[in-house]
Amino acid sequence: MMRSYRALGAAAALLTLGLISLSAQAPSDVQRAVDAAYSKFRSLQEGKNADYIPALAKVDPNLFGIAVVTADGKVYTAGDIKTEVSIQSISKVFTMAQVIQEQGLESIEKRIGVDATGARFNSIIAVEGVRTVIGTGAPEMNPLVNPGAISATSMVTGSSSDAVWKKIMDFHNDSAGRQLTVLQDVYKSESDTNQRNQAIGALMLAYGYIKTNWQQAVDLYTRQCSIGVNARDLATMAATLAAGGKNPVTGKQVLDAGKVPGVLAVMATAGLYDDSGKWLYHTGLPAKSGVGGGIIAVSPGKFGIAVVSPPLDDAGNSIRAQRAITDISNALGGNPYAPVK
Ligand code: GLN
Repeated sequence: MMRSYRALGAAAALLTLGLISLSAQAPSDVQRAVDAAYSKFRSLQEGKNADYIPALAKVDPNLFGIAVVTADGKVYTAGDIKTEVSIQSISKVFTMAQVIQEQGLESIEKRIGVDATGARFNSIIAVEGVRTVIGTGAPEMNPLVNPGAISATSMVTGSSSDAVWKKIMDFHNDSAGRQLTVLQDVYKSESDTNQRNQAIGALMLAYGYIKTNWQQAVDLYTRQCSIGVNARDLATMAATLAAGGKNPVTGKQVLDAGKVPGVLAVMATAGLYDDSGKWLYHTGLPAKSGVGGGIIAVSPGKFGIAVVSPPLDDAGNSIRAQRAITDISNALGGNPYAPVK
């Protein structure tokens, strides 16, 4: 008994030092896990594309791509890793991270909060719920549901809308390791139909979360949600968080290492909205979904993983992405709460 505790302690220490990493795993094992999930879930026909943004309903529901990028920059893929979908809510992670990078971890905690709402991503009841705590100095929202995300976008500083946008875009580009672009059809489609988000933006101004110009915040938020990404881009973005804020493919430090745990904590708390607890229960991984069909997940110090597959479940999370990531991560020992083998 004593001995196995000691072994566990030693393994945990090694893990902390980053000495046991996925790079220790044979590349063929990683590729095998990725290929196995691809063939297992390829013909799964559950769920349905988001259609409240008309452009999303038109995306091919059969699109299915998987990518794993290790913390030392090795890339493993299966399926379609070229076709771009809109990043949607996954952008919330990187805009939150941009604010934290610039203004510190407390900025998000004090203005928006880092607590789960337990409600859908665009819930207005959740906004009314937090209204009661305004003025107590303890906001209880988070930057990964729409009200908190629109507020986070409003916190990015800049003398003009273009200046703010450039910062948001640069942060996404640096995390993905390439120049991304906005899918204009999605941006237009969502701009034409985002009255609910406009209402949320106005309420967040009324309740003091947004300080000024809520219309600009909603517009830039809508634009950031329309950034086009493929599974490989998303996995690289996740790997940047897995590798202490340094993009492991380009070597650029995008986010200070000391700020990464806070970002991951919010992802663990609220990354899959009202299903975040269930997700964490099965994977232990901080993650983030988007209604475009992408999910990213982070195994700290080991790898980032992303799957793109548009059909969603009732909570708005890609079904194939959840299943494939769970299988692959569990095959690779990605759960940080699991004992080291
Ligand atoms: N742009 C989408 C919205 O605001 C993002 C939602 C999502 O991906 N969950 O509704």
